[in-house]
Amino acid sequence: MPAIAHIGIGFAAKKVVPSVSVIILIVAAELIEIIFMILWGFGIEHPLSEPGAPFSPYSHSILFGVLWSVLAGLLTHVISKKTRISWIIGLLVFSHTILDLIASPKLAFYPNDTGLPLLFDYTYTYGLGLWKNKIVAGIGEIGILVAGIIIFIMTIRKKRAESLKIKGTSKN
Ligand SMILES: [Zn+2]
Repeated sequence: MPAIAHIGIGFAAKKVVPSVSVIILIVAAELIEIIFMILWGFGIEHPLSEPGAPFSPYSHSILFGVLWSVLAGLLTHVISKKTRISWIIGLLVFSHTILDLIASPKLAFYPNDTGLPLLFDYTYTYGLGLWKNKIVAGIGEIGILVAGIIIFIMTIRKKRAESLKIKGTSKN
């Protein structure tokens, strides 16, 4: 499934919350996809490449995008007790829905994609459909991933330089 742009968002989030592991940030950005994989395993949801609905309303609908994001934020708060980090994790989960809304219907990859459903069925579907064109979709996916990795590398370099500076001053 070409959904690598979400990984880029996870990498980039390191700049906002440098104290959180990048693995957790990537998992948050891809949580909706992970939930989809689990539901697919149980035969509840189906990939867009498979002809015939109901596809993936419990992971990818706008309603469930909001629900999973709130749940992830609350769970993070229970575990970490840190309000700011909890908000960032919640927003990161929701970034998946936002990005999918911009890209969907991803006609370049799935000819029978109708966009993201609002609720449980596909009566109301939404999306800007930027991924209609294969070239735009390719540049979008890879571009966001590469930009995210660059932001991540710059952030950890800065963090390392700062910790070296602190070590240097504590020696004097
Ligand atoms: Zn997705």
